[in-house]
Amino acid sequence: MRTHLTLGRLLGVPIGVNLGVLAVCALLFWSLAFVSLPNIAPSHPTSAYWFAGAVGVIAFMVSLVGHELGHSYVAQRNDVRVVEITLWLFGGVAKLEGEADDPGAEFRIAAAGPLASGVIAALSGGAAVLVGRLDGNEVLFGLLVWLAAINVVLAVSNLLPAFPLDGGRMLRSFLWRRRGRKGPATRVAAMIGQVLAVGLVVGGLALGIWSSWWTGLWTAALGLFLLAAARGEWLAAQAQPELLAESVAVVSRPLPEPLGAGSSVADLERALRHDPRAPFVPLVDERGEISSVLVRESIRRIPPAHRAEVPVGSLATPLIGLTRVDPNETVAQVVDQMGRGSDWWAVVVEDGSLTAVVCSEDVEQVLELASA
Ligand SMILES: [Zn+2]
Repeated sequence: MRTHLTLGRLLGVPIGVNLGVLAVCALLFWSLAFVSLPNIAPSHPTSAYWFAGAVGVIAFMVSLVGHELGHSYVAQRNDVRVVEITLWLFGGVAKLEGEADDPGAEFRIAAAGPLASGVIAALSGGAAVLVGRLDGNEVLFGLLVWLAAINVVLAVSNLLPAFPLDGGRMLRSFLWRRRGRKGPATRVAAMIGQVLAVGLVVGGLALGIWSSWWTGLWTAALGLFLLAAARGEWLAAQAQPELLAESVAVVSRPLPEPLGAGSSVADLERALRHDPRAPFVPLVDERGEISSVLVRESIRRIPPAHRAEVPVGSLATPLIGLTRVDPNETVAQVVDQMGRGSDWWAVVVEDGSLTAVVCSEDVEQVLELASA
């Protein structure tokens, strides 16, 4: 049986539902039509509560999507692709491809969800006030008040500083900015997340025993889910010093597609645009061997108007002139040789031929994973 359905696209993002969400819908419908609405607006026909209950469930789902679209919109503006928005048992999730590469973007992406929920709450609250002033339908008034309240709950509970909840992500971005590094910030945020999750489980159980068993059970289940998620993030962010002893192959990139001797500088420009992270393109000589490379910066020497006529050979840098890394060296040895941080790249030469390239940004990423 399929447990996942795709409903459509919004802002270019596919919206899917997991069948677990049906349980939430049924529960919400029951609490709205049989408890909340008859309490806020008593003595109306049952059919009115049922109808408003169904509308309320749909409005709640739209609110969840609105929250996730808040994250998605800001993520896309910060060059992080959104794979899909999924609604499931504990609400919505916007699945991002990769993560923001600076703390400011991380903070904005995380804050956008609760902000969207806040805006929906304010709009529903405003509409409720309007309906109240105009002596409109009491059930509609009750529904709008409920929608405002549930969006406030959504905003506030997501702001809980329990990583990976939105509030926890905001906390991590704050620590990340203060310490300048993401790994340690993730570990601290995920540790706090685990402690808060245990608190939720214990609090939920206490609530279940002494007050409402249903709310307690739900809170405890949410706590367990958060505990697993925070623990997963915490384990993933553990230091991996053994990476430093690995061979340089773990940080090297394959060579870009080489150009032939007959190519023009315009061809080189196209090749580099096609592969924006490549520091150079290898050049194949008349004998079919790679004896030189075309460095990205060298293009600037040729004015744009002449690039189509000028052959790339005029920009070639011989292999002899490049910084080399031995394929048998470890990451630690490469760092010793090349230093940290600064923007460098080196070629890997094996048995006299060029096989790969090592870039400082890849080395930095491994150092981040390796350090505690
Ligand atoms: Zn969120």
